[in-house]
Amino acid sequence: MDERSRLATQVPSRPAGDLGDQDLIARSAFCRSWELTLIAKSKQSPAMLDLHWSLRPALPLLFSPGQDLTITVLQDYERAIRRRYTVRNYNAERHSVGIQVFLHGSGVGTWWAENLREGDSVTAVGPRGKIGINRNALGHIFVGDETAVPAMASMAGSLVPGSGVVIGVVQEPELWWPYPTSLQWNWLKHSAHWSKTVSELVRGFILSRSLSYLQVHAYLAGEASEMLWWRDLLVELGLSAQQISAKAYWGGSKANATHGEPI
Ligand SMILES: Cc1cc2nc3c(=O)[nH]c(=O)nc-3n(C[C@H](O)[C@H](O)[C@H](O)COP(=O)(O)OP(=O)(O)OC[C@H]3O[C@@H](n4cnc5c(N)ncnc54)[C@H](O)[C@@H]3O)c2cc1C
Repeated sequence: MDERSRLATQVPSRPAGDLGDQDLIARSAFCRSWELTLIAKSKQSPAMLDLHWSLRPALPLLFSPGQDLTITVLQDYERAIRRRYTVRNYNAERHSVGIQVFLHGSGVGTWWAENLREGDSVTAVGPRGKIGINRNALGHIFVGDETAVPAMASMAGSLVPGSGVVIGVVQEPELWWPYPTSLQWNWLKHSAHWSKTVSELVRGFILSRSLSYLQVHAYLAGEASEMLWWRDLLVELGLSAQQISAKAYWGGSKANATHGEPI
């Protein structure tokens, strides 16, 4: 069995059955199917692949910062395996789109991204994703791991400068580069001490902007169980559940299912 097929056998199906493109399209406004053709592949960091695609058909991609494309990375006999990647940039004139894939080394999505060649085509549906910027909030707090970097960059980059703090809790902070946004980025090493530092950063941000805890909104994305720790930490600090939007991007114990999410 080759590596790709071996990885595919680790991908579970939803107990209620696999979802197809049409099921996913029906769940989101402005969502449709696309054909993507790879124009360029590069690495800005050893850990992250930048993939730049042309889109067909020639219709505008109407997306909000933080939304993603759900790409079919493998058609495995009777199953289509999909993975979700945040729209990092979109060029309406050239009708091209950029995504960034974190290379973690042991999944079918990572295998797919690493083995892509310029000129390869795939199908995708999108834009998808319900979490967007809460425009009523005066301050925005982003906490996420490596897989959330594109979403945090896209959402934070859409804000008024100075109105957000971005906290990346990652395995190797030295691999990450300062993002070219006016927002404050903080890279923390995933360790026993991260919660203290996250608390200090959040408190520092709120105090420095003279905000109250009621005026901020937090956005969390990353590994499923960490999401719960981050949420509990923010609730301990004084945020209510309504002020927190959290999305599990992957699960530490097993591969995401065929529709691209942990089950
Ligand atoms: C809405 C949404 C948007 C997303 N946007 C992006 C994005 O822009 N860029 C991006 O890179 N990812 C993004 N993700 C996450 C990405 O889709 C998942 O990480 C994806 O499951 C990776 O697929 P895989 O096939 O490589 O690994 P999987 O098949 O899911 O997992 C295989 C094995 O690898 C482990 N694993 C999975 N992910 C990681 C990891 N990050 N670190 C260490 N081990 C891991 C699993 O526990 C499992 O043992 C997003 C997810 C969602 C739901």
